[in-house]
Amino acid sequence: MPVAVYPGSFDPITNGHVDIIRRIQPILGEITILIAQHPTKKYLFTAEERKALVETSLKGVPGISVAIHQGLTVDYMREVGARVIVRGLRAVTDFEYELVMANMNKKLAPTIETMIVFASPEFYYVASSTVKEVAMHGGSVKGLVPPHVAQAMKDRFAEQKRAAQKQVSQKQAGPEVEAPAKPPAKKSLRSDKPKSKSHLSQYTHLKRRKS
Ligand code: ADP
Repeated sequence: MPVAVYPGSFDPITNGHVDIIRRIQPILGEITILIAQHPTKKYLFTAEERKALVETSLKGVPGISVAIHQGLTVDYMREVGARVIVRGLRAVTDFEYELVMANMNKKLAPTIETMIVFASPEFYYVASSTVKEVAMHGGSVKGLVPPHVAQAMKDRFAEQKRAAQKQVSQKQAGPEVEAPAKPPAKKSLRSDKPKSKSHLSQYTHLKRRKS
């Protein structure tokens, strides 16, 4: 039974997340990383992909499980009997959001506590969104995310680029319309000027017949 749950988008997991988990695991023991799945939110990676990236990043860290959840974190926690929500805090800008979330969760489930952990100075500026932006433009994300996450982003953006290019070339080529039915063969030889091999054979045939 996990004592604590660390909920988030993890789209994708960064070294900032990994750092928080490695620091709190020895204190809390069993922790579930809860991958949020909101039907209206756009993610770079599917929930299953995000889960796999988290699992690989935390290989060897004891007491860690990873789950996907759609809905309220506190509902999941009641189901599994967890009591602590872990959240990370980077800048003042995070504070107001985390304060609202913590108080809302307290209102929904008074026995559940939120534990806020400060980001380590070296990961203070690391966020999934900025890391994605850097990777999208081909910048280096070395040291900001585990290497397999960097590779996964590179592959995904390359896929997206190829898909976008394909769309553009399809648009430029125009809509695919069925070739119009061939007009009936004209009687006049002048208008039956050969254009292709098949036309040529037809033309020579007519010519031969005429002569
Ligand atoms: P969410 O969409 O729920 O904010 P995130 O995956 O962005 O999901 O973040 C999950 C939690 O991890 C949040 O509490 C966030 O503040 C924290 N967090 C994100 N990046 C870092 C970081 N570099 N250092 C410490 N905590 C972080």
